[in-house]
Amino acid sequence: MNNPLTEDKIARLNEIAKLPPEEQGKEFQEFLKTLSPEQIEFLRNQQNQGCIFCKIAKGEIESKKVYEDNNFMGTLDINPANKGHVIIFPKEHCEFLSDLPNNLNLFDIIKKLSLIIVKTLKAEGINVIISSGVAAGQKIPHLLIHLIPRFNGDDINFSWNPKKIDDKEMDSIEASLKEEISNSFYVKEEEEKVVEEEPEEDFDEERIP
Ligand SMILES: [Zn+2]
Repeated sequence: MNNPLTEDKIARLNEIAKLPPEEQGKEFQEFLKTLSPEQIEFLRNQQNQGCIFCKIAKGEIESKKVYEDNNFMGTLDINPANKGHVIIFPKEHCEFLSDLPNNLNLFDIIKKLSLIIVKTLKAEGINVIISSGVAAGQKIPHLLIHLIPRFNGDDINFSWNPKKIDDKEMDSIEASLKEEISNSFYVKEEEEKVVEEEPEEDFDEERIP
């Protein structure tokens, strides 16, 4: 396929590539809105070439698949932190959390799979880890959700040293987050008129970690 992107589109892409990783997702989504369907398809093919998780999703690379629906796949991590370590990932290429389409019920999937993993592996707890952005420790440019079953004394340690942030700065962070959330989150929800779905009854939920 010939490159259908015009020179100004390519220049804009190069500008986006120079932005901090967390900004790239949003800017890229905006950029996509300016493209024709043909240009978008070309770009997606370019992006996904060489992406291991896109290839796993297409069945081009073998995996120990334990879950699949229209949007997500779950496989055993081949470099597990613990036995039963599962990764969930979007089947369409998504690099950052911000690239993920809305309303995919991802947390429902995380919750159900986590409970099943804990029960099946007889684990005593579970960590759910999403690293979005290089600064957050993301190593692979395809969004992964790690479900790591935990056992007492398993010698895995996620810890940080608490930072001292003065009250004034905490107040200012609280205010800016509140403003941003009330401007976008609640208004958006109202506009979308979210319809509450009936809970599914086919899943036997036990109260386990
Ligand atoms: Zn990918």
